[in-house]
Amino acid sequence: ICWSEMGGWHRPRVQPYGPIALDPAASVLHYGQEIFEGLKAYRHADGSIWSFRPDANARRLQRSAKRLALPELPEQYFIEALRQLIAIDGDWVPSAPETSLYLRPFMFAKEAFLGVRPAHKVAFYVIASPAGAYFHGGVKPVSIWLSTQYSRAGKGGTGAAKTGGNYAASLVAQAEAAEHGCAQVLFLDSVEGKWLEELGGMNIVLVYKDGTLVTPQSDSILEGITRDSILQLAEDRGHTVERRRVSIDEWREGAASGDIVEAFACGTAAVVTPIALIKAADFEIGSADAEAGELTMSLRAELTDIQYGRRPDPHGWMLRLDA
Ligand code: PMP
Repeated sequence: ICWSEMGGWHRPRVQPYGPIALDPAASVLHYGQEIFEGLKAYRHADGSIWSFRPDANARRLQRSAKRLALPELPEQYFIEALRQLIAIDGDWVPSAPETSLYLRPFMFAKEAFLGVRPAHKVAFYVIASPAGAYFHGGVKPVSIWLSTQYSRAGKGGTGAAKTGGNYAASLVAQAEAAEHGCAQVLFLDSVEGKWLEELGGMNIVLVYKDGTLVTPQSDSILEGITRDSILQLAEDRGHTVERRRVSIDEWREGAASGDIVEAFACGTAAVVTPIALIKAADFEIGSADAEAGELTMSLRAELTDIQYGRRPDPHGWMLRLDA
């Protein structure tokens, strides 16, 4: 679907997958004016196809649009685009356990204009790709590299928006993590360099001995829909949930004293993945052969059971896409 300043949103259509023609002066290529979302379509045992909280993705896209000076896409257009894609490509939603069809809605500035101002012509697309487990080795606990040289987002920047520039800024840090044998990079805040932010593509949650779950509160991280859902499920079970600033020292000391007993990463792609080890240049937290945490794995099971229709959906999170 396209947008222009004069005409608003217009020309919704389904077209065969293939290259997009772009003017070499299109603003997205020069100034990175683009945003995206990521969510999945799940096949249930009866063959029906569902998505998980797509309304939350639609609203987050609207917040990202606001920050990147892009037009707001109405929620019903977002959902309709997913439905139309599934109507054509529903056969691509796999049925093997823990697989899904990853959906990637994205919006970009396509106006040919070399000046720096919000573009007057924009396009919104959705593409899809079948997905299996995100990390090699299924849900084996992962090692994470603590980046001290790079930060992902600055104060007043675009950290809370899902925009390509944030990921571009994280690529060298992610490559550094891989060189150290780590699956993801952990970023700290850019002002004091001590508060936990998030991983390259996931949020983080710490579990304390008394069952409290703590997750970083920051206006420069992406508000994950997986994190919000997991924390809701934990609250339903009676756990205390704290969204607050949490420092790397608190994690280090809490892990050493036995106060922090589990840590996990969460996001649409990784679902919920236990963290075994944090590796920094001059210290480590945990150990590479640590077992997956019990609460981590049971919250993961509860969430995936809801997503795959294996247990009731008490919060009305699932939306059927193929009917
Ligand atoms: N943080 C970042 C930087 C991400 O890319 C993602 C994945 N979208 C998340 C957090 C988790 O968000 P969600 O649970 O909505 O996928």
